[in-house]
Amino acid sequence: MDNCHGKNGLFNTGGESYDAGHKAMGKLLKLEKYSIGVGDRFAHQARAQLRACIQAAAQGADVVPVWNKSNREHLIIGSEPASTRAAADEAVTDLGWHRPYHVDADHIRQETVGRFLEHADFYTIDVADWIGRPADTADASAFVERHKELLGNVAIAGIDRIFHTSRAEIEAIARKYLVATAEAGKIYRHIATHKALGSFITEVSMDETDSPQTPLELLVILAALADEHIPLQTVAPKFSGRFNKGVDYVGDVGQFEKEFCEDLAVIAHVVHRYGLPEALKLSVHSGSDKFSIYAPMRRGLARFNAGLHVKTAGTTWLEELIGLAESGGEGLALAQEIYASALDHIEELCGPYATVIDIDRSRLPSASVVNGWGPEQYVSALRHDQRNPAYNPNVRQLLHVGYKMAAKQGQRYLDALKSCEACVSRNVTTNLFERHLRPIFLST
Ligand SMILES: [Zn+2]
Repeated sequence: MDNCHGKNGLFNTGGESYDAGHKAMGKLLKLEKYSIGVGDRFAHQARAQLRACIQAAAQGADVVPVWNKSNREHLIIGSEPASTRAAADEAVTDLGWHRPYHVDADHIRQETVGRFLEHADFYTIDVADWIGRPADTADASAFVERHKELLGNVAIAGIDRIFHTSRAEIEAIARKYLVATAEAGKIYRHIATHKALGSFITEVSMDETDSPQTPLELLVILAALADEHIPLQTVAPKFSGRFNKGVDYVGDVGQFEKEFCEDLAVIAHVVHRYGLPEALKLSVHSGSDKFSIYAPMRRGLARFNAGLHVKTAGTTWLEELIGLAESGGEGLALAQEIYASALDHIEELCGPYATVIDIDRSRLPSASVVNGWGPEQYVSALRHDQRNPAYNPNVRQLLHVGYKMAAKQGQRYLDALKSCEACVSRNVTTNLFERHLRPIFLST
């Protein structure tokens, strides 16, 4: 065996990092095997979300909640990371949840991580924008020298083909990703200087980019992240197909399953090959509601006995709207007003999400049509029930990105959530448990 690239190879480039890295791995805050990322934009549904995890646990699926909120969401809503932490802590205390839970600084970068340092114990380091910035030829070639195990015939347990790689191919992949993995290292070390050793979970995300990463690319990326001494516990690649916000997967489900399984095999491989944490697992930034790939994911997890972190998007906020509409009266009126103002501000709302939504504007009803709807019509259009002919994915996507319009309502919106709480929280819990936790971790 080539002894330069096994477990010891991970830490063979810098004395100080060796010790720090080793200690961090020894007493690392460990993410449980199954976890679900939940978004709670207005910080009022943590209890309802936690109830879904309690239901899953009662049925045999231990899935820990991770409350995630990105800087972008905080800015749009005008909220602070402290509020996410407070809502999570309060829900956990109120409901007597004794299993772990976490607060995720979602999609942070060097310039946005600061305000999360005190409140988050999970950091999703987003380096997608660094992908494709070409690394120095010398760095790429040094990477290949360090990783000769990636050249020639590369066999990975669980993948029934052998990767035949050339030096040029691995060097090209390294050139494409090394700037991104170096940036991840920089941000990780920045966080580590502000937090107690091993006291947080690190994810690296590369999903918000144009082209998917192949399993071979993922292998190279993980080798490079190990070189950066990052005690990585979850990695979020971009898969092929469309992962639009709040609606189902669009793409070749068979191809997804193959890719997902190969990624699981790559993860199991790198844990041993590069000494990454045993807990390392895939993170699927699902954008919520990818119903058609949940069964393939469940099969893959069973086949590899693998863990999973699955991030839903802020669709809890849509359940708030559904609960308001279902309540009728003032709740419905507010939900209608929010739709009308979302329609008025469509350009502004869709801009930041352009790559993850596909709205057919010709299928958006006018504000006056929606104002004439009763509770049932509003709920049918919005609730993600593909068997209901009145379900409208265009309305759903517009409202999904329209949370700024609710934020603009300020206290009126929050008061409505309180007065319609029974309806809202029932929808939040049912949605998370029945449409997500059950099909991914239990059965359909
Ligand atoms: Zn993401």
